[in-house]
Amino acid sequence: MSVSGLPPYDPANIFARILRGEIPCKRVHEDEWALAFHDINPLTPTHVLVIPKGEWVSAADFHAGATAEAIAGFWRAVAAVAKALGLEAPGYRILSNMGGDGGQEVPHFHVHVFGGRPLGRMVRAGG
Ligand code: AMP
Repeated sequence: MSVSGLPPYDPANIFARILRGEIPCKRVHEDEWALAFHDINPLTPTHVLVIPKGEWVSAADFHAGATAEAIAGFWRAVAAVAKALGLEAPGYRILSNMGGDGGQEVPHFHVHVFGGRPLGRMVRAGG
């Protein structure tokens, strides 16, 4: 069981396979701590996923178990990606789904970066 109560890390998950280079991605950024790539099913004009390189199921696991350096490196990568994509001035949204109610499909911690149009307020009731 992971820290968050989710199942243990599954090294066969699709983002683990992307990290190992077994399946391709449209990469926008990579450094020691993180890989960022375009979402295969973009919900906004810009929709990028940023994933840490370590094996973490969720935000809870990552922040409980990763080193301070890895956590800082990951969040710096998120900010760098948004800047590189030209999203700083117009603004953007970052979001991470966790577990069933959170709608998490891929069990490797990731942050969505949405932008490219006004995004409205938060989430809508019912979906
Ligand atoms: P989540 O619901 O937060 O787990 O989001 C998982 C995201 O991963 C979804 O937005 C999917 O469209 C995206 N996704 C799934 N497979 C791939 C892939 N091979 N390359 C890029 N994005 C993917």
